[in-house]
Amino acid sequence: MTEQCTMLHVDADGFFASVEQSLNPALRGRAVVTGAERGIIAAASYEAKALKIGRGMQLHEARALCPSLVVLPSDYEAYSIYSRRIFNILRRFTPCVEEYSIDEAFAIIDTARSSPEELAAAIRQAVREELGLTVSVGVSLTKTLAKLCSKFRKPDNQTILRHEHIPVMLKRTPIDKVWGIGAASTAKLTRLGVHSALDFIGMEESQVRKLLHKPGHESWHELRGARRFRLEQNPQRSYDSMMKGHTFAPPSGDPDFIFAEALNNLERALAKLRRHQHRCGEIGLSLRLKDYDHRSAALRIAPLSDSNAALVPRLRQLFNALFEDGAIYRSTNVWLAELEPPHLRQPDLFDNSVAKQARQELDRKVDQLNRQFGGQSVKAAALLNLKDKPSHARDAQPERYGRLFKGESRIRHINIPRLTLGEG
Ligand SMILES: [Mg+2]
Repeated sequence: MTEQCTMLHVDADGFFASVEQSLNPALRGRAVVTGAERGIIAAASYEAKALKIGRGMQLHEARALCPSLVVLPSDYEAYSIYSRRIFNILRRFTPCVEEYSIDEAFAIIDTARSSPEELAAAIRQAVREELGLTVSVGVSLTKTLAKLCSKFRKPDNQTILRHEHIPVMLKRTPIDKVWGIGAASTAKLTRLGVHSALDFIGMEESQVRKLLHKPGHESWHELRGARRFRLEQNPQRSYDSMMKGHTFAPPSGDPDFIFAEALNNLERALAKLRRHQHRCGEIGLSLRLKDYDHRSAALRIAPLSDSNAALVPRLRQLFNALFEDGAIYRSTNVWLAELEPPHLRQPDLFDNSVAKQARQELDRKVDQLNRQFGGQSVKAAALLNLKDKPSHARDAQPERYGRLFKGESRIRHINIPRLTLGEG
């Protein structure tokens, strides 16, 4: 049976570095790498790649190749937000999406009304216009072929491969560039004179079965246009708990400062909770003392919630129970547990109260502003009790966290109308 040309693969171009360039237009057109915190390059922009600078290279080697190289610490929070946005754009074109990695997805498209060419172009345009970065798209009969296609004219391009043109593509594809064919299989095949993917699909099936393990055999089918790797839709990630913590130096006995630290952790945990559309049934706080001893406690949250308004008073309650005057603390950890993932969500009879909707709307707005302006641009007033952090190599932070407007304090905040929300 011949499959339809409906399997799409999208792969962001130089993803981490492109996100940095999208967030900071001054970096566009420049050689940019991420991974400053580890001393090893995690990702390189295409401008850096052109200078033979790539992933895994030591920073000092890269600087030797390009003295003006821009080296940034990784900002995984920003990358995961952009990742989600790419996938959400893709979902506007088709509900059948498999998130394969942070910057790659497979999807099955409906070509009844638009051609694969038109759909691929529309997806690329939407990503470019809305996110300021580029993706490459491949469309073909199977995942393995679609993956070859997205790589074919990288960056910022698309390749559509229909059944009749498969041999042309496979002829120019070295066997070790086929998804799923590793070094061991390549060595076995090369020994038999199989060098290109076209040579490979010309082999007898029985011979392939004898020579390679099951995945290699599946790749043989896939390259011939027969779907063996299905779309694994909705690998909805669910979490058991989420924890955010921070160690501060020097240690402190100031209750306002330590509560601000805990609140900061709670807000980060809640932003993650909402990003993954979970709700929690437990909040926990742990205060670690200077001598590494710690005190912790947890409270149940009923009904389940994802809102700052519901959880901040619980955090205060935990803090008041744990904090001891005169004790010196070095870190706080906040965890959210008893999580409920979105697909298990029970309809809530009280979901429609006006106050609750207002709180959800506020949280959503704050998350949105924070995504837009970075870090925790908008945060609780109590967080102004946080002090300047002493700088530490390990604390290397994305530059956007530190961008301040003239006259602004260390903690960047945006004036939004204060809403007074009642309890309950
Ligand atoms: Mg990529």
